[in-house]
Amino acid sequence: MNCKKCDSSHTVLLRKKDYYCDDCFMVNTNHKFRACIGKNKILIPNENVLIGISGGVGSTVLLDLVNHAVTLENTKKLRIVPFFVHLLDEERKDSAQAVIKQCNKYNINVYIIHLAEYMDLKFDIPEANCIPETEENKVKLFHDMLNSMPITAATDFLLKVKRNLLVEFAKKVKCRIVFTGETTSTLAINLLTNLATGRGSQVQDDIGFCDVRDKEIKILRPIKDISKEELDYYVAIKQLSPFHEKDVISNSLQSVIASFVSDLQKDFQATISTVCKTADKIGNQERMNDERNMQEKCVICKSNLHTRDLNISALEATNISRKVSLGNAQFRQYLDNNPDISSLESDATPSVFPLINKYLCYGCSRNQSEMNQTKLPPYIEEVLKL
Ligand SMILES: [Zn+2]
Ligand SMILES: [Zn+2]
Repeated sequence: MNCKKCDSSHTVLLRKKDYYCDDCFMVNTNHKFRACIGKNKILIPNENVLIGISGGVGSTVLLDLVNHAVTLENTKKLRIVPFFVHLLDEERKDSAQAVIKQCNKYNINVYIIHLAEYMDLKFDIPEANCIPETEENKVKLFHDMLNSMPITAATDFLLKVKRNLLVEFAKKVKCRIVFTGETTSTLAINLLTNLATGRGSQVQDDIGFCDVRDKEIKILRPIKDISKEELDYYVAIKQLSPFHEKDVISNSLQSVIASFVSDLQKDFQATISTVCKTADKIGNQERMNDERNMQEKCVICKSNLHTRDLNISALEATNISRKVSLGNAQFRQYLDNNPDISSLESDATPSVFPLINKYLCYGCSRNQSEMNQTKLPPYIEEVLKL
């Protein structure tokens, strides 16, 4: 078979049916990246953009695409001033070394920020290309906090930590825009996880092209239309060297969903793209208006607490079924005969999650209630007044 664009012999086979040569494949992938940014018309020429680099396959390709686009000498040059940042997990310093090496190859500076800085958010802009010092005690408190949660909650919480740190660092280096390198596969997994953990109303910010939760900083996902299969070809053709992250911690809901999605994808090539298209349909359309940013937000994930434009949330559904059951005479009698469970009658949900809807969304309330005695960062505790 020959390349479907130029008829030379094929080197790339996508979705078991589309043949390309290396050149046409690269043109195509670059085009997807540029089209994704272009059609959303959110960038102003020559503005600062912060790019989060984990070292994994997605961000390795994002780094190469950005570098290629900003070094073009023609009208297609991408007019942004990029800043690069890597969030460092203390227990995995090798990822930071790998990212510094990757960036060195392009002659690019990268800032390394410890995840533990989440504990007070008081960090300065560090010296570029080296791992900054941080207090041991802060690192310990951070890990105690994560370790006090079940794995599923900790994995979910860590995503919120990273998002907050990116937004804070973007403010420090005066970037209004952040790029992150989530791939279609990651987003499909995140979508199903969101639905399963009661974060359905947050789908559009967590999975869509643009996270608009912060009123100043927008987080964009410019490679969200590039599949894992395409990324792997890209890495091979350009001989890039991604840092191979360990997969999501096993035994978590996220890891179960990840293997479910990737197993399905093997036999049904449209699985991931179908899941992601569904995300666009779930999202509500009024996100960009200013009124949205006036609302009260969850102190951990910064999502709006009162999503009145959403039809129903998991929590409301639970509340409604409880009320309906209590209104049923037969069920009432059953309750009266069983005093142990008649506590259902009192407003059960607020007693389980005392902070819900006031300071925390349902998902973060659940994470918080599953923490074992340890403390959230002081600036959050302050708000919650625990
Ligand atoms: Zn070709
Ligand atoms: Zn939240």
